[in-house]
Amino acid sequence: MNTDFKRYLKDFPDQKGYFGDYGGAYLPPELVPAFKEITEAYLTIAHSARFISELRRIRREFQGRPTPVYHCERLSRELGSTQIYLKREDLNHTGAHKLNHCMGEGLLAKFMGKKKLIAETGAGQHGVALATAAAYFGLECEIHMGAVDIAKQAPNVARMKLLGAKVVSVEHGLKTLKEAVDSAFEAYIKDFDDSIYCIGSVVGPHPFPMIVRDFQAVVGEEAREQFLEMTGYLPDRVVASVGGGSNAMGIFTGFLNDPVELYGAEPLGRGEKLGDHAASLSYGSPGIMHGFKSMMLKDEAGEAAPVYSVASGLDYPSSGPEHAYLKAIGRAKYACVSDDEAIDAFFALSRKEGIIPAIESAHALALAIRMAKEEDNPGFVLVNLSGRGDKDLDYVLENYADKL
Ligand SMILES: *Cc1c(COP(=O)(O)O)cnc(C)c1O
Repeated sequence: MNTDFKRYLKDFPDQKGYFGDYGGAYLPPELVPAFKEITEAYLTIAHSARFISELRRIRREFQGRPTPVYHCERLSRELGSTQIYLKREDLNHTGAHKLNHCMGEGLLAKFMGKKKLIAETGAGQHGVALATAAAYFGLECEIHMGAVDIAKQAPNVARMKLLGAKVVSVEHGLKTLKEAVDSAFEAYIKDFDDSIYCIGSVVGPHPFPMIVRDFQAVVGEEAREQFLEMTGYLPDRVVASVGGGSNAMGIFTGFLNDPVELYGAEPLGRGEKLGDHAASLSYGSPGIMHGFKSMMLKDEAGEAAPVYSVASGLDYPSSGPEHAYLKAIGRAKYACVSDDEAIDAFFALSRKEGIIPAIESAHALALAIRMAKEEDNPGFVLVNLSGRGDKDLDYVLENYADKL
């Protein structure tokens, strides 16, 4: 590797929010001032000593950070010589990495004097994490969710309500994530003096891919130090699942300037046919959607194509612009993992290590297991275990009872 990444985090994205060809902010004119306000506030407030020390305290006392790095001894022994390690984001409060950026966004809102957090949610994971942050900071929270998703995700809807959030049911169109995004944007346009829009991954218009990456970077910073202390080495490879790409950017960021190979695991779902997967970096093409330019899966009309994955947190028709850039320059590689491989890894980790992973995270583990079985297998692989699998038990019971 000959690129010097020492200045990378300062230089990328550029002032307009671009990572090379990707990123930017494609906004309706009414929202341009609101996003400018967020960008300016972020660049000043979030780099102040007061903000940083408050966020550190919250991470330690409320979230339970640092989360550990764990060596999968039994699983590794069974696979041969590769040693698999996990960064345990499943042990972060609420059981996944999403709270890392939601607490950052909530603290930013508080410092900016906003009263309300607005967002959309698909499966409800982002909604629950944001409602948790809102409760902590004493802010109102309004989560827009398609009526179809509300019917499917009763436990997450109950959690959001319990945490004090208002869940707005979106009743038009297909009544899923896309309509929920539109509805949340409309609500924000009406109320941007008092509220802030909180995006749930390293996607959306600038500055969100930058803000969410920076708040998730704690994962990689901790993991690098912990791994060095445990083993005396850096890992050979770092692997993470990619939906929008926030947990992957979080851990990748810590290793960008090291001789460490970075791998994203994309969901191949049922197969390679458009509509059967959500592997936008592997099968997509450049396009503009939801206010940013990245790799996306498009239908014949050039609109976002329908996508599918067994992991509801991964079924998004695009990925963050920074991933598109890291792929284009060859700094990160992306490989596909099918539903079946992810489910096998889900069972393997549960049985061998006593850790039930989120099916999203099982995609990353499955890629690490595949690497361990290859002839030129790596020595040390560090996997970002982005979340725990309690939320997936009903689904697994219903569909894979034969494997129990
Ligand atoms: C939401 C989610 C993901 C996917 O989101 P990214 O932004 O790609 O990280 C992965 N794992 C878990 C546990 C999730 O909840």
